[in-house]
Amino acid sequence: MRPLTAYFSHKALEHNLSVLQGLTPNSRHCAVIKADAYGHQIEHLLPLLDKRVDLYAVAAIEEAMAIRQAGGKLPILLLEGVFEPEEYQIAAKENFAVVLSSEAQMAWLKEAKLERPLDAFLKVDSGMHRLGVKPQAVPDLFESLKGMKNIASLGLMSHFATADEENHPLTQKQIELMEALEKIDAPQSIANSAAILKAPTTHKSMVRFGIALYGASPMADRVGADFDLKPLITLKSRIIHHTRIEKGESVGYGARFVAPEKMPIGVIAGGYADGYPREISEEAFVLVGEHRAPIIGRPAMDMMMIDLRNVPVSAWKNEVTLFGERLPIEWVANWAGTIPYTIFTHLSKRIHFKVVD
Ligand SMILES: *Cc1c(COP(=O)(O)O)cnc(C)c1O
Repeated sequence: MRPLTAYFSHKALEHNLSVLQGLTPNSRHCAVIKADAYGHQIEHLLPLLDKRVDLYAVAAIEEAMAIRQAGGKLPILLLEGVFEPEEYQIAAKENFAVVLSSEAQMAWLKEAKLERPLDAFLKVDSGMHRLGVKPQAVPDLFESLKGMKNIASLGLMSHFATADEENHPLTQKQIELMEALEKIDAPQSIANSAAILKAPTTHKSMVRFGIALYGASPMADRVGADFDLKPLITLKSRIIHHTRIEKGESVGYGARFVAPEKMPIGVIAGGYADGYPREISEEAFVLVGEHRAPIIGRPAMDMMMIDLRNVPVSAWKNEVTLFGERLPIEWVANWAGTIPYTIFTHLSKRIHFKVVD
């Protein structure tokens, strides 16, 4: 079996839940598990989350059905709402809550013949300019939706564009717009992970945690541990081949690394088709046991090469950590000029998952 394995910790999940719920004792808790739980595979999270949170959120009805098939029982919020009118039937049957953003979504809901009314959130565009209606349209829309027979409960929802940045003026503007809408008697949900960690006034009726649940920091200059969060997965592999190369010989595609002296190199099973970013800078390293080994040349599709000069031969048989415990994913993301979200969501199906505790 190929040694590339994601070691999954339920203890870390339990810990992160306690941290996030401790910060938001007066709010309902929505676990955002779109994109197969940010690449962590829903089946590893559902048993615990089913007992500990109030609802789930996903991008689309297909993801919500996959959660039902995997045994998840809680209500599930469809963050983009429905894409076709027929999806309201399924939503009513399966206990999915819906976001209402477009005129079509509202018109379809008005016309639908449902076996029971739905929980819904009117999405407010407070500055992200992705989904949602204009704030000034909210009071009238809210009134007309509120009386609809197909709506059981109606809340207001919005999403931050810059909550991960220190003191960005747009965040303050979005907060104020939503505070002005508190004159409407409706539960609000606006906080994502960044706002949960940094902006307590935004917690309101329901919070929606994604990245922080998985133990990573939404803030680029911080790591999860700065917020007492623990990674749920540690991605490990092994050295599957080693050799020595002469001074002046190159390594890998593009011959980007050239040996400055005769040196030992190792090959690890794990490449960009597994989701490890190809775009990493020269600072990038892995841990062989506890020894740092720089990645040399570009990661290939299935393998990457490392510099073993500073790793004792006795350690070469040890497991190699790509990220997770002792090597924060935020570092890998920085080396690649990206964010932990993209690395998580690009993790491939061919990585083996092993539950450790
Ligand atoms: C993805 C998403 C979240 C979760 O964001 P994190 O930064 O991962 O906490 C919350 N709300 C909406 C609308 C989202 O699309």
